[in-house]
Amino acid sequence: MADSYFPKGMPLPQGTVDDQEYWAWTRRHRLMIQRCTKCGTFRHNPIPFCYNCRALEYVWVDQIPPIGVVYSFTIVRAPAHPALVGRPPFNIVLVELPRAGGVRLASNLVDLRGGDGKEPVSQVARWNSPAKVPAFEPDPKSIYVGMPVEVVWEDHEDVTLPLFMPSADPEAVAAAERHPKAAPPKTGRTG
Ligand SMILES: [Zn+2]
Repeated sequence: MADSYFPKGMPLPQGTVDDQEYWAWTRRHRLMIQRCTKCGTFRHNPIPFCYNCRALEYVWVDQIPPIGVVYSFTIVRAPAHPALVGRPPFNIVLVELPRAGGVRLASNLVDLRGGDGKEPVSQVARWNSPAKVPAFEPDPKSIYVGMPVEVVWEDHEDVTLPLFMPSADPEAVAAAERHPKAAPPKTGRTG
């Protein structure tokens, strides 16, 4: 995958006994989050019991549409792995999922622009379709806490990664507006 966001040689997630079902769902382009059936608490990463009430019973809750809000982010400036040499600066985002009790996922923000180069291409309408994820990403200055985002899937041979892109989806925008840390991008910010 020459055009993948994750560079060739970068170690990909290896499923464990606790999260293999999560990765099986992402393989089918579905963002599923565990929810305790006793107390209703959502949790991520996947674990075998509820950290709130210790019950073992849970269900997988689908995120349709798979939208989120940027809770926090950082800009990486030093490559931590040989496969990342030449890649910085790149971002790591912590995305809050409003449909799953605000649990957070660590991921990357990528940028899929429309034909005019201005408007993000919405993936929500075709969230179950394969998407090509380009190897470029937003200007770090364009990322902000409280940003509405949506999932874009990156398929690799053995695993499918949920990455995020800016979203104009009404539910994502509404969730971002409700977010207590929401703030518009500041001009002159250096990231
Ligand atoms: Zn519970």
